[in-house]
Amino acid sequence: MKFEELPLTEAEVIKLKQLCLEARSLSYSPYSKFRVGCTLVTSEGEFISGANIENASYGGSICAERSTICKAVNERKYKFKVIAISSDSQEAISPCGICRQFIREFGKEIPILMFGQEGNTHELMNLEELLPKSFGPSWLGVPEA
Ligand SMILES: [Zn+2]
Repeated sequence: MKFEELPLTEAEVIKLKQLCLEARSLSYSPYSKFRVGCTLVTSEGEFISGANIENASYGGSICAERSTICKAVNERKYKFKVIAISSDSQEAISPCGICRQFIREFGKEIPILMFGQEGNTHELMNLEELLPKSFGPSWLGVPEA
């Protein structure tokens, strides 16, 4: 997918990038020290940020994408225009497999904007490109978000 196809104004893209890079500071990652920040934009244009939260029982950790979506869903926001992530890696990282499936619950074609550490590099793909032939709500008779 192309940057121009993002359903955001130029000002919203700038705000999204800034909030997404800042969201890393929310990270609780004393074990890996690998901070990941996430900011999503709801269909109403609201920006919601979150970060990865680790646990001494490592399996209890949660990625930035899922923690941010949980925050949104707990505010009854289910439709997202775009989800952006950034990390402490120079290169843009992409959502892990669990997060791809978690995002899939809320739409097949949500754009995923992945920033490098400084925000001056990015990659953009929609969820269908990251998770082809995905399993989702419609398979269980539930309408797609
Ligand atoms: Zn993940």
